[in-house]
Amino acid sequence: MLGKLNVKSYLILMAILPFLLTCTLPQGPEESPVTLSVDDSGEVTDLSRESRGELIRGDNLIDMILREGIDAELANSLVLAVAPHVDMVHLQPGQQGFFLYGSDGDLVSFQFEEQDGSLVEARVEGDSLQVAVKNPVLTTRVVLVRGTVESSLYNAAVDCGMPLNVFMDMIQLFSFDVDFQRDIYRGDYFDAAYEVVYNERGEIADYGEIVMARLYTRGATEEYHCYRYVKLDGSRDWYDDAGGTVRKELLKTPINGAYISSGFGSRVSPITGFTHKHKGVDFAAPKGTPILASGKGVITLIGWSDVYGWFIQLRHTNGYSTLYGHMSAFARGMRSGSIVDQGQTIGYVGSTGMSTGPHCHYEVIYYGTKINPATMKFPPGESLKGDDLDLFQLERKSLISSFF
Ligand SMILES: [Zn+2]
Repeated sequence: MLGKLNVKSYLILMAILPFLLTCTLPQGPEESPVTLSVDDSGEVTDLSRESRGELIRGDNLIDMILREGIDAELANSLVLAVAPHVDMVHLQPGQQGFFLYGSDGDLVSFQFEEQDGSLVEARVEGDSLQVAVKNPVLTTRVVLVRGTVESSLYNAAVDCGMPLNVFMDMIQLFSFDVDFQRDIYRGDYFDAAYEVVYNERGEIADYGEIVMARLYTRGATEEYHCYRYVKLDGSRDWYDDAGGTVRKELLKTPINGAYISSGFGSRVSPITGFTHKHKGVDFAAPKGTPILASGKGVITLIGWSDVYGWFIQLRHTNGYSTLYGHMSAFARGMRSGSIVDQGQTIGYVGSTGMSTGPHCHYEVIYYGTKINPATMKFPPGESLKGDDLDLFQLERKSLISSFF
């Protein structure tokens, strides 16, 4: 670049350089103002200073400002200035304030971060305060993690830094195909790509959706893939490699699978599979874990049985019924004849009836015969077609090539 500067422009630059260095440089709206000055040695120094405060439990906004060392009168004015733009009723511990001081040590600006990431700023302009609200500039990135099962799927997610709600979303996507009690072995693993939302300071502001996930089960001998796709009509869902929705008629895991204790190793109570004596499968989970309707249906039986304890039976379409036993409680509003959606919470894990520990006993009945839920196979709920299928396959391939 320097080589391209001619002598004339070099001289002009030298002439205005001291001016540039002693003035407050113009800044874009998203940057903090910084005052530059030249000290005796000719070095450029930044005499402004930024400090960060945080609400702690029981704080009012003014407590945080006073803790910063701001005098009471100015602190009051700052609170009054930002109050119309701040949700003062729902302040949360951890919400941050940013104090910017000029080279003379006086406060130049106070910014308070709302829970949606927006900043309410009060700038000191002479004797008055100018208030502005800056909406958050958010950027979304997709990150890929691999979790390997050492003790449980849940711990695998924790170990690879996957946030709990993203993990639960992933579990839900695979609950149609995977029996999380019996299909997960030590050494199994998953790859998950999900959205992480960052604010303008590069801090994580939120987590988005699963973009792609692959789960390797039963000693990594079986694998399940799903990919998010937004259809041309704007609706979106998660699809397998062939473009079929991962949603099936019934769930294989009818509880929130994120709470399933390890399906292997030492267990407090034996968790049984489907045999001629035990015509259902059991899912061990802490008392109170939500039990989900495995398909859309109507409640045909709800009540007490000495064997099943508190239980619910649902009738679905195509000749299927399902039964859930040993509940500690029913979900609100459940009664005979209630219509429930797939995935809706109908009750909570307990140990009522003939049970040795908290678990959900799950039965699938097909035209009156109890069948093994672990081996039932359903076609995809709906498959992509035409342009959607072509676009999905293009996106799927580019997703895979960008991560593997
Ligand atoms: Zn059972």
